[in-house]
Amino acid sequence: MLAAMQVMAQSIPATVSQGGLVIAKVTPGSKVTVDGKPVRVGEDGTVVFGAGRDEKGPLTVSINGRSSQAIRVLPRDWPIERVNGVPPKTVNPPPDIAERIKREQAEVTVARDRDDDREDFTHGFIWPVQGRISGRFGNQRIYNGDPKAPHSGMDIAVPQGTPVKAPASGIVTFAKPDLYLTGGTILIDHGFGLSSNFLHLSRLDVRVGERVAQGQVIGAAGMTGRATGPHVHWGFNWFGVRLDPLLLPGIERAAP
Ligand SMILES: [Zn+2]
Repeated sequence: MLAAMQVMAQSIPATVSQGGLVIAKVTPGSKVTVDGKPVRVGEDGTVVFGAGRDEKGPLTVSINGRSSQAIRVLPRDWPIERVNGVPPKTVNPPPDIAERIKREQAEVTVARDRDDDREDFTHGFIWPVQGRISGRFGNQRIYNGDPKAPHSGMDIAVPQGTPVKAPASGIVTFAKPDLYLTGGTILIDHGFGLSSNFLHLSRLDVRVGERVAQGQVIGAAGMTGRATGPHVHWGFNWFGVRLDPLLLPGIERAAP
């Protein structure tokens, strides 16, 4: 028990930023919950979880139902970002299109709900493309003057056709060339409920079920779906919780 608590104190952080991912270690074989929700514990004791954009915290991590630790969630500022010149039918779609969008989003949600016992996230992350950040995670977006959901990922401006690399290895769980809002869309599952999504791609080079290595080209940048110029949108999820790619290990310090 004492050993377990020491391990925990060493590896579970005292704080996490909104949009941040926690990768921690507990004693292998422990049962862990985060805010009452059981999370996978790897053979080596690895656990992962994240704090969403609007998470107020604290996140309560409990081990074997006994020891628990409250992680303080550090609030961030979320600037307002105006995006003009977007085709109006993509901002307020007619009912038949709204149906289609709902259907497509449901398919993506299923892909995100996977919980594979695979630790492809442990080797850190690399930038999928090198370029200027043209849209940050969490910014409140106003499309053509209409307030919409916050930006769910990070946009990196690159020329049309720029090769997009897998930021970490994983399994492709979704790959479709023509979703209404997100255009060419790929999801890579990194294990433990962590997944990357790439949107607006002009070309897909991978198929569902395929294993990809970190750095492998998965497709090409474009502006398919709701986009005003060529860029790569990189979204990152812990199951349904959207996290900020810029806070991932290996990403922030290596910003281009
Ligand atoms: Zn975006």
